[in-house]
Amino acid sequence: MSNKPHSYCRIHPLKLDSMKVPTMTKSLLNLSTLSVSLIVALPAVSALAHPDVTEFLDVVFVAAPEVLDCTLTDGTAAECYQFTVNYLPDDLKIGPFCPATLDDAGGLWDWTGDQAGLYQIDREFLELLNSLGYSFYNEDGTVNVITSGGAPDGTNSCMNLDADDTVTMTMLLPVTAVMADAPTELGTVAKVGVATDGIPIFADAPSIQERSNMPALDLCGGHIDPGGWYHWHATATDIDTVLDAADISASCNLPQDATALFGYAFDGFAIYGSQEADGSVPSDLDECQGHVAETADGLNIYHYHAGDTFPNLPTCLVGLQASDNFSTTASGGIGSQGGGPGGALGGGQGGLPPGFDEAATTLGISAEDLFAAVEAAGGRDAYLADVAQTLEIDEDVLRDAMPE
Ligand SMILES: [Zn+2]
Ligand SMILES: [Zn+2]
Repeated sequence: MSNKPHSYCRIHPLKLDSMKVPTMTKSLLNLSTLSVSLIVALPAVSALAHPDVTEFLDVVFVAAPEVLDCTLTDGTAAECYQFTVNYLPDDLKIGPFCPATLDDAGGLWDWTGDQAGLYQIDREFLELLNSLGYSFYNEDGTVNVITSGGAPDGTNSCMNLDADDTVTMTMLLPVTAVMADAPTELGTVAKVGVATDGIPIFADAPSIQERSNMPALDLCGGHIDPGGWYHWHATATDIDTVLDAADISASCNLPQDATALFGYAFDGFAIYGSQEADGSVPSDLDECQGHVAETADGLNIYHYHAGDTFPNLPTCLVGLQASDNFSTTASGGIGSQGGGPGGALGGGQGGLPPGFDEAATTLGISAEDLFAAVEAAGGRDAYLADVAQTLEIDEDVLRDAMPE
């Protein structure tokens, strides 16, 4: 098992309801209230599924959303919304991630070893890890917490990465969702979508591995990426359902609503909480946790639902995504253009580090996915065992393929 920490984000109270732009069904009138400069008219109300810009909290956008020409992953031309957002919404209160001492309570961790499950990071959990051979705290009860880099030899650390308020992220979502021939699986740290608070949503965090660190999530299921920006690893507006199921008494500080729209997947289909608009729990979800059913808008369209176990996100995407749908100005971390002082891998001028394209070709995966997996595993000093597990490939094959 590998030790990749993911922290839970805690979305802080964004007052989702009060701040939300009125969702008058997809009319251009609504868009004007958002000061959004849309170049292309939205489809008329119909059974077409598409991200509804009016559902987003406009406070998150660095620039008004635009509609651009884009290319979907099957090569077809399409139109996409481009959202550019800050590293963190202005009024979101995040953390805590790592407890300072055994007597403090931190965020969440999805432990995948013996006695696997979702835990709050507290004395009981850290003592469990120590009983399994890890070393996350000292004799005086202080927890090993790091803000960057690695842990001292022979110990393990809880990661509490620094935010970078200069960083922005840009995401592309198809204006009109298009079903793919087959679903796209979402592996570890795969890109899932964007929440209506503008925060990116990623799939399950990498697991903790021996000698590795724990990138703690906060109680809402988010944490800071090595690039300095915050992201979700769970459906934050319905995570208390998950906490309850895991017998965790703490709760997320964001308003919870199991019927609410949480965001949109990168294929453009909506992601709701674990319940339908009428409060019922859907019983006919497909392998991706979605189905065609009537939404609160009265539309009979495909949409995803959160589950009640962590990670409670869609496990695959049924629709086509835009190519190159996530980028950031950060010099390191997911979506960065490889390298820079903050980048774990260094090298590479405007592109991935040298050798990555070749290695990815050898492995039969995209260079972007390979880079993301290495970054997630700790960058230059990544344990290849972790990267191999993330990519579900043989470690020796990976080792042979990797650039120096
Ligand atoms: Zn993460
Ligand atoms: Zn539904």
